[in-house]
Amino acid sequence: MTAQIINGKEIAEKKKVQIAEEVKLLKAKGVTPGLAVILVGNNHASRTYVSNKQKTCEELGMYSLLIELPEETPEVELLSKIEELNGDSKIHGILVQLPLPEHIDEKKVIETITPAKDVDGFHPINIGRMMAGQNAFLPCTPFGIMVLLEESGISISGKNAVVVGRSNIVGKPVGQLLLNQNATVTYCHSRTKDLAVHTSQADILIAAVGIPNFIRAEHVKEGAVVIDVGINRNDEGKLCGDVAFNEVREKAGYITPVPKGVGPMTITMLMYNTLKSAKETLR
Ligand code: NDP
Repeated sequence: MTAQIINGKEIAEKKKVQIAEEVKLLKAKGVTPGLAVILVGNNHASRTYVSNKQKTCEELGMYSLLIELPEETPEVELLSKIEELNGDSKIHGILVQLPLPEHIDEKKVIETITPAKDVDGFHPINIGRMMAGQNAFLPCTPFGIMVLLEESGISISGKNAVVVGRSNIVGKPVGQLLLNQNATVTYCHSRTKDLAVHTSQADILIAAVGIPNFIRAEHVKEGAVVIDVGINRNDEGKLCGDVAFNEVREKAGYITPVPKGVGPMTITMLMYNTLKSAKETLR
């Protein structure tokens, strides 16, 4: 079997068109969705991510505000900037680009963002709501994965889903979202024994490990849906995922490539969440 490729870039573009249309409607009602992005320090990768977020905001007709703070910014100053944005009616989403310099407590920063503007979905209130199946801002990468599955017509209810990786931003929440949609979910991590015993039971296999080519054909059940979250560089410096794409595609039913798989969905769902937040101000 050769897997059908799930084209994340195409699905993301389709979603962005829908978001841009909704932004237009909202603007006609006097509300322009606004996203504030705070960048502390001069991390090269972070700068690229932030500029992509800004560009996408502008492309979709949203207001984007970039706040750049020097590396040595005291924590208290960052927290007070966030408080200011919490009260700014032009801003519907606040995102603090991670990682932060070591002297700043990430947990404090995330908890200072009001849950109503937490478009990254990292605030404990949003995490709790997501777990309870309530209305919440869903974290963007897991949310994007759910949209990829939906747009590809893949049913989730009753399926065995195996998530390799249990980070707070990807592994744990994507497992929860799959559970919310009635999958039977297994989490695997660095202490899991006999990984292939678990992964080979998966109808839906999510790889969020951060190790190039970690998931091989032997880990995958014939016809499985394989979602590769990894963004890594291989020995030649080329972008690659966590899944050995060429061998796994010969066994899987569906597979996401890297690049053009999960990656483009993350930023799209950030825009979706900002729009959702802006719409909620009209309720
Ligand atoms: P983390 O490093 O936070 O988590 C990695 C997870 O993999 C951990 O839970 C770890 O287990 C597990 N793991 C490590 N080694 C093994 C092993 N040998 N066997 C089984 N599990 C193992 O990574 P993230 O979740 O933040 O990211 C994962 C990947 O996804 C990265 O490549 C990252 O770049 C990418 N990513 C992509 C995004 C996108 O938009 N496409 C967004 C975010 C991340 P343990 O908990 O036991 O340590």
